[in-house]
Amino acid sequence: IKVPTSDIKSVIAQIKRLEKSGCEAVRLAITDDGDVSSLKKIRKATKIPLIADIQFHTSLALKSIEAGADKIRLNPGNMKKKGLKEIAYLAGERGIPLRIGANSGSIEIEKKGLVVSLVDVVADWVKFFEDSGFFDLVISLKTTAVESTVSAYRMMAKRCNYPLHLGITEAGMGRDAVIKSSLGIGILLQEGIGDTIRVSLTEAPEEEIRVAQEILQSLGIRFFYPEIISCPTCGRCEINLPRIVKEVKKKLLTLNFQLSRMKIAIMGCVVNGPGEAKQADIGIAGGKKSGLLFKKGKPIRKVKEENLVEELLKEIKNEMV
Ligand code: SF4
Repeated sequence: IKVPTSDIKSVIAQIKRLEKSGCEAVRLAITDDGDVSSLKKIRKATKIPLIADIQFHTSLALKSIEAGADKIRLNPGNMKKKGLKEIAYLAGERGIPLRIGANSGSIEIEKKGLVVSLVDVVADWVKFFEDSGFFDLVISLKTTAVESTVSAYRMMAKRCNYPLHLGITEAGMGRDAVIKSSLGIGILLQEGIGDTIRVSLTEAPEEEIRVAQEILQSLGIRFFYPEIISCPTCGRCEINLPRIVKEVKKKLLTLNFQLSRMKIAIMGCVVNGPGEAKQADIGIAGGKKSGLLFKKGKPIRKVKEENLVEELLKEIKNEMV
């Protein structure tokens, strides 16, 4: 996120909101000395790990370490080697990891192609830092496409044991961006490759966090919110399922995160409804303008369609106590 010096209070408030929504680290773009002093103030106001994103100016990386950054993210390709050695020395002294890497847009693509060019460039930088006596590295090598990103990370995972930071860079906006990010990050995580992730969307950071959480939850790696099983609906559906699911999802967002391991089934009719509802913690099997409510595998009562959302939420809240 940006750190405008003029409105540091609202930046701190935004970081606290992000932390509340499940964000585990915040990256701050440090572009000048003013940003460094903002970093210092933010450091005092929050405990969340802060990553200073530095481009071009090695002096800003050194100042950010002094200001309390927990990690420095830099693109060594746009910095002077002498300055990089100074950063490596200070980071080593303070126990601060460096995330280094390159994106498809920041390298010269040689005849060997994008993937090999990217991996070779980053591997050369890894060697540079190792030769400088620094080994606390996190590596990223993102491209804007799923196939090349996956290939690059697979190749790098074979070449080194450093933690890998995954993502599809500049994925864009909306559903296609979410699908691209989910596939790229998901394929790699499923293969056991990757240690940290960032979903890069042309949208608010809160949306990026939400998508990242959904990726991790879909893969069964981490759980953040209740899982909703709902059928795709078909000609047999006997209740307004899209409306009900939408309302339940919206309301769930306002509830406590401790519900994270709960499974909720919302099904349209008796074909698969009772089966799924029984297997969930709480479920609805739709009937004629009504639904049969299940809890822990047992039917508990029949509810009119118009009261289904309310009754379902009542049962969910009871589980929270
Ligand atoms: Fe259709 Fe019923 Fe299956 Fe849902 S449970 S997809 S409404 S047949």
